[in-house]
Amino acid sequence: MKRDIGLYVHIPFCVKKCPYCDFYSIVHNDLLEEDYTKAIISDILSYTGKNINADTLYFGGGTPILMSSKNIALIIKTAKDVFNLNGEITLEANPNSTTKVKLKELKQAGINRISFGMQSADERELKALGRLHDLPQAIEAVNNAYETGIKNISVDIMLGTPYQTMASVKNTLDVITKLPLSHISAYMLKVEEGTPYYQSDILQFCADDDKLADIYLNTIDILEQNAFSQYEISNFSKNGMESRHNLKYWRCEEYLGFGASAHSFFDNRRYYNENSVQKYIESKGTNSITTDDNAGGIDEFVMLGLRLSEGIDLDKIKASNGVDFEKFMLSANRFCEGGFAKILDHRLSLEKNGYLLSNHIIASLLENVI
Ligand code: SF4
Repeated sequence: MKRDIGLYVHIPFCVKKCPYCDFYSIVHNDLLEEDYTKAIISDILSYTGKNINADTLYFGGGTPILMSSKNIALIIKTAKDVFNLNGEITLEANPNSTTKVKLKELKQAGINRISFGMQSADERELKALGRLHDLPQAIEAVNNAYETGIKNISVDIMLGTPYQTMASVKNTLDVITKLPLSHISAYMLKVEEGTPYYQSDILQFCADDDKLADIYLNTIDILEQNAFSQYEISNFSKNGMESRHNLKYWRCEEYLGFGASAHSFFDNRRYYNENSVQKYIESKGTNSITTDDNAGGIDEFVMLGLRLSEGIDLDKIKASNGVDFEKFMLSANRFCEGGFAKILDHRLSLEKNGYLLSNHIIASLLENVI
């Protein structure tokens, strides 16, 4: 029997562009939101009668909480009708756009998990990131969500941001671990080409690679001491509260993406919609571009699976025709001897300091994929 798939809806609207962000987003306006919602609904409805079931829906962005609750409810209802959706329904939100009334409406619409872009508890760092909220707003947003009954709450923080120090990260972790959270994502800042950060001299105010490695390893320790287990390079959760939707990406399970710039992996094909709200509205979701029509191979299984603390099943690697297993194990054992990886119950996974070298380790292992 086919497993339930994940659904992703990209909401590309933001109040303003943050200087480090390279996600596809534009300034929100109500008229555009109406047309965009109609296109998403039409795209979802095109799967009617295909007998596909889903157990996760993720509204990512952008700033999905800027959408009206009416439109969010409509999209959820359509997804329930078409995909028999039953399970985790997440919405990303920024603290400055979150009100108690909105949270109540979202809960009523079916949202049962919320992910706040908090980024830091340090006001100077928040300002440097161009964020529109302050710490009291972030704390209030989390507490309001919990009181409203959305108990599955995640926050994102960023590591390696301008002016950040080990002490300020410890303070951020101290603040967030006291909040009623089930999940924390800690992403390292990556300064991407084409962003205002890239054109500025901001990097001189960021931790160098060695300091950032210390910050990362300390973050893992502090979160684990506070019952947030690391289950992926950048993700931590209380027992059993991993993001079920994001696990699908790393476990090479299928998902369908709706909206401009949304990606899909379905029927062995990886494809995405163009970064254009207008084109998405005009084509009603038929403007997708295929990047790989023979996807889901052993290379993806290694690349994505090694991001997870559960690692990859070596029996599956051995059974694959596409791998020189002897050489693969020689390479894997080298990393195990160096203390960067481990093999337990026929599974290969990275150690914490192995995560810091994950690109290099994965590239070396992939040399043995034929
Ligand atoms: S709010 Fe999020 S998606 Fe929007 S510009 Fe800022 S970082 Fe990018």
